[in-house]
Amino acid sequence: MAQRAEPVLVVGAGIAGLATALALAQRGIGSRLVEQSPGPRLTGAGLQLAPNAVRILKALGLAKALKERSFAPTALCIRDFQTHREIGRLPLGARCQTRYGEHYLTIHRGDLIQALLSRVQEMGIHIEWSCKPSVSKSSRPDPLISIADEPVRAPVIVGADGVWSSLRAAVPAAQGPVETGQEALRAVIDKPVVTQDKTFSSDVTVWTRPGLHVVGYPIRGGESYSLVVIRDQQTSAKKDWDHSLSTEEVAPIFEKSRGFLRDLFEQAPGWQSWPLMASSPLPSGRGLGQGRVALVGDAAHPLRPHLAQGAAMALEDAWRLADSLAWRDYRLDNPEEAIARYADQRWRRVSRVQRQSARSGRIFQLGGMMASARNFALRLAPIPLMDQPWLYRVSEASSREH
Ligand SMILES: Cc1cc2nc3c(=O)[nH]c(=O)nc-3n(C[C@H](O)[C@H](O)[C@H](O)COP(=O)(O)OP(=O)(O)OC[C@H]3O[C@@H](n4cnc5c(N)ncnc54)[C@H](O)[C@@H]3O)c2cc1C
Repeated sequence: MAQRAEPVLVVGAGIAGLATALALAQRGIGSRLVEQSPGPRLTGAGLQLAPNAVRILKALGLAKALKERSFAPTALCIRDFQTHREIGRLPLGARCQTRYGEHYLTIHRGDLIQALLSRVQEMGIHIEWSCKPSVSKSSRPDPLISIADEPVRAPVIVGADGVWSSLRAAVPAAQGPVETGQEALRAVIDKPVVTQDKTFSSDVTVWTRPGLHVVGYPIRGGESYSLVVIRDQQTSAKKDWDHSLSTEEVAPIFEKSRGFLRDLFEQAPGWQSWPLMASSPLPSGRGLGQGRVALVGDAAHPLRPHLAQGAAMALEDAWRLADSLAWRDYRLDNPEEAIARYADQRWRRVSRVQRQSARSGRIFQLGGMMASARNFALRLAPIPLMDQPWLYRVSEASSREH
């Protein structure tokens, strides 16, 4: 079968791949988008969209979809796991809008994928499902990438194929993921019912305990609630986002929980787990692309979830790469320069997010004296300690250089 002649091949129709194809189309660059799954995978739980992510989604044309499908939490609130007592609170809502010019939103991953897919369809971008390119490692430095045994001739290839990326093999300096020793267990509760005196919370709440924390927030306009447990333990090493766990297996975690959190656990219909994988902070831009291959999203830098920036960094990569390829009019004869420029402009910010995510994860799970010191500091100065102006104020859609 003859290959389509678009100048860019995008591998993977997750958040990074769909956003890349959209950002390219907005700049007049066509792409061929391929995805290994036979159709959209709308599974998952909630995602947090900080102002730097929301800005890009709106620039991609998703303002209406966000209004319909997301939720705007009131605050980010840190609470004690056992007592439910508040430790620190960062107002979001109007404060985010005033300080950062955008909202802080939450959304179900499936709803975001569906919104991106609808926009991709509107823009006339075709997705080839059940399509998995192969990468021949032996042919470095210009690796041979083929689809159905036919070499891909596109001048630019974008690896947006997630944490277990195979395109990563085409970028020798790319950092592969390693197991962090932690796992995430997630549940989505539809129409949560809150029993008397256990007030329903419209915050993003982090309940902390030594060695474990739970993150929860409403999604789907408040119709559902997303709950994720992060613990220093791994029961599954599967390369899978949907490894099921029974309520009985998860019950010991919630034994000492109280109030609203206890209510939520009792209503969780089932749990899925996945091992948390992450790469080391990028030491340079070399791992983000080489030659005609660029990596975006989890393929480029699998992130710990503790700063809730996985989707945001994928969106920023997509936007920046498209800008780079479109810079001074896209020239098919020199895509290497555009990819090197993209990598150079992205790596410092991504590296900072990687470092800060690892730090936040450690802070959430402190025990003993260290936990008391953390709680004291958070009660004293919650806003300076919880806000991230360097991250939320700037985004690829608002700033050309940083
Ligand atoms: C099914 C699923 C459920 C998830 N659930 C959650 C969740 O609940 N909470 C959360 O925080 N994060 C979740 N994530 C991860 C989250 O989407 C990413 O961390 C983040 O959004 C970055 O997106 P990405 O596009 O880089 O990667 P991904 O979202 O992982 O997308 C990568 C895409 O590439 C495709 N792909 C992989 N290899 C190939 C190949 N060789 N050829 C063609 N296509 C390929 C995959 O099928 C996938 O569609 C989930 C990811 C998946 C795939």
